[in-house]
Amino acid sequence: MSEITLGIIGGGQLGSMLAIAAKKLSIKTVIFCDDIDAPAQNFCDQFIAGSYDSKEKISDFINQVDLVTYEFENIPFETLNEINKSKTVLPKPSVNRLIQHRLAEKDFVNKLNIRTTRYVSIEKKSDIDALEDFLPGILKTTTLGYDGKGQYPINSINELNKIDIDFSKGYVLEKLVKLKKEISIIITRFSNNKYEIYEPIENTHEDQILKYSKIPAEINEKIFNQSKDWAMLIAEELKYVGTLCVEFFIDRNDNLYVNEIAPRVHNSGHLTINAFNVSQFENHIRAVCGLEQIPLKKISNARMINLLGDQITQYRNMQKFNNNEFFFDYLKKEIKEKRKMGHVTTLV
Ligand code: ADP
Ligand code: MG
Repeated sequence: MSEITLGIIGGGQLGSMLAIAAKKLSIKTVIFCDDIDAPAQNFCDQFIAGSYDSKEKISDFINQVDLVTYEFENIPFETLNEINKSKTVLPKPSVNRLIQHRLAEKDFVNKLNIRTTRYVSIEKKSDIDALEDFLPGILKTTTLGYDGKGQYPINSINELNKIDIDFSKGYVLEKLVKLKKEISIIITRFSNNKYEIYEPIENTHEDQILKYSKIPAEINEKIFNQSKDWAMLIAEELKYVGTLCVEFFIDRNDNLYVNEIAPRVHNSGHLTINAFNVSQFENHIRAVCGLEQIPLKKISNARMINLLGDQITQYRNMQKFNNNEFFFDYLKKEIKEKRKMGHVTTLV
């Protein structure tokens, strides 16, 4: 068996879980992250701290790895493109460039005849007139948002005029969907029409941050099938290699909408570690490293709770867990309000 060293950009909990999955497959990992305290350094073989535009650090990173993947989407396209000139980057950088831009992402999804929320681009103050149609809505920065950051709920034009919008950035105003439920599909694409796809996962958010996930999702058969079909179409159209997540909204009339695409492993898929024979992380490593594709088998139904901020403390102090409970501590140095600190998966 040939020895592979995989480079991973980003050192948060997703990077940690990718490194753990890689180790299980005897793949070495080098993590490159701009945070010197990145938790994933506890789990990888080699850790490089440096800014994502440092030529020196990038070249140090490239020299140590055979290929490169990433755990979050907000990496400068230039960095990925530069690395891709000497070492293969998967998923390919153009995918990342498309998806890190909310407007380009939604245009792409609509071209596939897949429903998204109604949206409009806002670039300047005068764009705000005549937006009645999109209200109530949520104003989102087109780039760099996550966990509800860079998002403003807006009820009226008046409200919109009152907030001091920084127009050096671009925005998308999205019509608010009257949500019945949110689900996500996690899919790993290996090559043309070769997939492993997990069943829909039902997600509950609090303050725009994921709080709970569970399988099975309580949805009808049509939504079950449509969400999987749409995720497959998106992955195929992107010629994606690796694990991808599609987040969906279901409205009160049981219409399905794509909310957003995450070109990476995803928080809602943490339960795949314990509930399936192969986790989303292992599948990602298998796909990008060209390893064998193993048919997915569900082991158990499951639910997951995210531990935010100081909710982690009581779990850290817990001596014993039940046999069906799996606690993950992300080992983040600092507890911050609403920060994802760990999670617990319960097999049910
Ligand atoms: P992030 O990049 O921060 O995950 P999302 O666009 O997924 O941003 O928004 C986070 C959450 O906010 C969603 O999962 C949903 O609960 C809520 N939300 C966002 N946009 C809408 C919308 N148009 N209608 C209803 N709820 C929304
Ligand atoms: Mg989201």
